[in-house]
Amino acid sequence: MIIITDDEGKQEYQKDAANYLGKADKVYLPETTDEINFIVRDLYSNDIPFTISAARTGLTGGGVPHNGVLISTERLNRIIDIDVENKSALLEPGVHLQTFHDELRQHNLMYPSNPTETWSTIGGNVANNASGAKTFKYGATRNFVNYLEVVLPDGDEIRIRRGEYFAIGNEASLNTLSSNTIKFSIPNIKVPSSTKNAAGYYLRPNMDLIDIFVGSEGTLGVIKKIGLDLLYQSEEVISAIVFFDDYNNLLNFTEYLRNDNPRQLKPRLIEYFDKNSLDLLSKHHSDIPQESLGAIWVEFETNSIMLEHDTLSLYELTLEYTDLVEFTWVAMSDKDREKITKFRHDLPLSVNELLTKYNQQKIYTDTAVPANSFRIYYDEMYSHLNSMGVDYVVFGHIGDCHLHANLFVKNEKDKEKAEEFYHYMMKLAVELDGTISAEHGIGKIKRPYLKYMFSDAEIDGMKNVKKAFDNKNLLASDTLFFDR
Ligand SMILES: Cc1cc2nc3c(=O)[nH]c(=O)nc-3n(C[C@H](O)[C@H](O)[C@H](O)COP(=O)(O)OP(=O)(O)OC[C@H]3O[C@@H](n4cnc5c(N)ncnc54)[C@H](O)[C@@H]3O)c2cc1C
Repeated sequence: MIIITDDEGKQEYQKDAANYLGKADKVYLPETTDEINFIVRDLYSNDIPFTISAARTGLTGGGVPHNGVLISTERLNRIIDIDVENKSALLEPGVHLQTFHDELRQHNLMYPSNPTETWSTIGGNVANNASGAKTFKYGATRNFVNYLEVVLPDGDEIRIRRGEYFAIGNEASLNTLSSNTIKFSIPNIKVPSSTKNAAGYYLRPNMDLIDIFVGSEGTLGVIKKIGLDLLYQSEEVISAIVFFDDYNNLLNFTEYLRNDNPRQLKPRLIEYFDKNSLDLLSKHHSDIPQESLGAIWVEFETNSIMLEHDTLSLYELTLEYTDLVEFTWVAMSDKDREKITKFRHDLPLSVNELLTKYNQQKIYTDTAVPANSFRIYYDEMYSHLNSMGVDYVVFGHIGDCHLHANLFVKNEKDKEKAEEFYHYMMKLAVELDGTISAEHGIGKIKRPYLKYMFSDAEIDGMKNVKKAFDNKNLLASDTLFFDR
């Protein structure tokens, strides 16, 4: 194990992709997963607080400590096994998503949970129940987690396979490797009925108890091994960026694809770029039509028999909804598809680069609402953005009614307005039965807003779950909640 104690060495571990700054007394880099148990046991017996971090691409400060020890999983990066026949994999937590995608491609397999940031790790993705473009068809990370090994805050361990341990009504108990039993009550919590959600613990009566760890943001234990379900690669994929000179048409096109439709077009992803996003990207992509007010990236899985038919159906649909059909980018080869994927990935990266350049903490929305409220949410968002006089870009997972409005604040006045907008959007999302965080989680930055979504009793219920796992409140003590 490597231990970093010098200020310069620790520096990169004290900040995440949102430029959230923290402080670690020491940074531990275990080199085997069993070292985690050893480290954690020692920290527990000495009452030393600790936090887990992986690639620190997180955007809410969850992987950045306020004090104590930071345990980084960066050296635990082995793909232990890929079982092609059973379409599953076993991994250490520090495997980067891109490394995993590349490896799976060689076996004609895929892991559809694909957050835009492919430098993120599988452990970080499970801890945040990360989602991505393909979540539209396949759901978030949770849907693919079939096995976890979790080191508890006292160094003991839980090994749990999906389908093995369920809560009985609202009562849950889990046995540890040392034959201890962890018991907790599942509070009744109102959660959004149809949106993705990464705010708070996943708690449901009769739930599969593996799900308590998925999305728990590193607050219940250190995930040391992960089993994932996989899928076969699709035989053919059609990927297209469709440009629009009218927002209403863009929204109608999206709605058509989001719902069952007469052409039976069933996309695996629907992603949104607004005009300001296209302007930002045009620095690197000269082929964006100037007339364009927005764009949709859409992707379909198909096969060699249906390829021509589906391509034609998409073409006919674009003819109906946009006057900029001749500018549509269509990719059918892996290489062209990668170009389109890069186009989407370049966007949050460009935003974050600008923020880093001006040393600004990211102010952005991660809200989502149900499909039947999306127009209200969308119109309200732009009406506020356009009246504020603060620079912004909006992009994201429009298929899931989940957009990121990113604000560029230049001075204190801008900051005030941006924060007002940010609060307004979270409250609006909750009013519309949506969520304050659809994918990035609460971490430290969004702790004050958990109460927009949950009552005091619901938050106390979550804190009691945390206490059942971490009686000394040593692990990630400043993530998710304030006092416990
Ligand atoms: C440009 C950009 C684009 C992004 N796009 C998306 C997107 O499309 N979808 C999305 O969901 N997110 C996205 N994110 C956010 C981020 O990539 C995800 O939250 C990701 O899951 C974080 O993974 P990480 O390895 O960087 O974890 P970190 O940031 O290091 O940690 C994140 C959280 O996970 C916990 N954690 C990490 N490893 C473990 C472990 N082994 N055991 C227990 N807890 C652990 C940490 O304590 C922390 O709370 C994006 C970020 C950036 C910068």
